[in-house]
Amino acid sequence: MKDKIYKYSIAALVFLISFILLRAIFHQPNIEQIRTYNSIILDEVKSIENLSKSIEFKTISHPDYTKFDYKEFQRFLDWLEDEYFLIFEELESKYLGKSLLLKWEGVNNNLNPILLTGHYDVVPVGLNANQTWKENPFHGKVDDEYIWGRGALDDKSGVIAILEAISYLLKNNFSPERTIYFSFGHDEEIGGERGAAKITEYFINENIRLEWTLDEGSFLLENIIPGINKPVAMINVAEKGGLTLKVIGKSLGGHSSMPASKSSVGYLANALVKLEENPMPGKLDGVSLELFNEVSRHMTFKNKVLFANLWLFEPLINSYLSKSPSMNAVLRTTTALTMLSASDRANVLSNEAIGIVNFRLHPRDNVGDVIDHVTKFIDSENIEIHQVGNAKLASNISSWTDKGYLAISDSVKEIYHDVIVVPGLMVGGSDSKHYAKVAKNSYRFNPFLISSNEISGIHGTNERIKKVDFLNGIKTYIRIIENGSDQ
Ligand SMILES: [Zn+2]
Repeated sequence: MKDKIYKYSIAALVFLISFILLRAIFHQPNIEQIRTYNSIILDEVKSIENLSKSIEFKTISHPDYTKFDYKEFQRFLDWLEDEYFLIFEELESKYLGKSLLLKWEGVNNNLNPILLTGHYDVVPVGLNANQTWKENPFHGKVDDEYIWGRGALDDKSGVIAILEAISYLLKNNFSPERTIYFSFGHDEEIGGERGAAKITEYFINENIRLEWTLDEGSFLLENIIPGINKPVAMINVAEKGGLTLKVIGKSLGGHSSMPASKSSVGYLANALVKLEENPMPGKLDGVSLELFNEVSRHMTFKNKVLFANLWLFEPLINSYLSKSPSMNAVLRTTTALTMLSASDRANVLSNEAIGIVNFRLHPRDNVGDVIDHVTKFIDSENIEIHQVGNAKLASNISSWTDKGYLAISDSVKEIYHDVIVVPGLMVGGSDSKHYAKVAKNSYRFNPFLISSNEISGIHGTNERIKKVDFLNGIKTYIRIIENGSDQ
């Protein structure tokens, strides 16, 4: 009898292992037919020169609108009209504040228009830029490999690449099936209230519904996902929201010579440690499930065994991915302890100690979920919790099987060939939060290949883009316009 049980157990185990391995063997990338077109021949020198020139304008946005140097913004716009005169001749143009809206009328009025957008305002460069930057951030230096300066990635490269793409198509007598709008915002970095928000208002007043929009977002990234050595183009289909809580520890204040057994700082510290050690629950579902299901097909066999058998290994995978800050942010609402304050004297005990905690909301969580979670873990009568300012929920999730997504993804695959295209989740904000009000689907993606070396330039020092990557981005926008206008 014992012998029989033993035999059956061995047989079951062999069956289970074969099942797991078979699933991994069949966990392969889909074979796709990539459309190929006539090759695109750009005036490369001119395109690079134009990005370089655009960087020279100090179009820095400021949280206080009275502190904008509007002359510089106007100089930039005048230059655009001059340099891209063909576009201004052929397309309708309209200014809302210092933001520009262009309309390329399509031949088929039954189709809803689409929108391609970017922003030409930039963030400041820091106080000691002449010491911390290798090149002057506003000279637009071009060397053998790179174009340097503030905006080279965020987002003058996007704006100029779109304009170069329109110019190219006009010169090649292209005319779109559906109407295409292009907008270039002047205040994205401070929320877009006078740019993208006003353009959205205009769409609402004119009763214009957009089929889909493409705004800045993720890039084609190399070496970002552990175990993947191909570039991954993450087309963001949603953006996370935000919530800030003030956590207050309370105790008797007084002189530090006779402290009570526990101080407001002690209560607060305890509470904050609990929050950091107990993040909001995270899991692979929706966008993140689609992302890893696709990406893992390109991983080593060992990883395929794990990802093809989520039913068994999901807890293991979740804990592995949670260790990477960028992957963790895709899985869950993140918790960041950002500010602290208490007494401002060494010998005074404060009766209140305050900590600020910033949460980035995953589409599956709302404000109540986070507050419930926080209250459950802190659970102390010496702690008060208050919401700071307005919370912003995550955006809706746009379709990754609809025509807009496919137009973008086909274009990326055609230009870059050996890449993985997946839907992603944007962890920062963009002007899309405004345009989403009038769009069926909103996508956030810059079609430029960048590495982890370059990514730190965004809002940081030594912002730069490789010339070859900028040119490939123009080509991708050309295909996005062609594919998007007739699909
Ligand atoms: Zn940006």
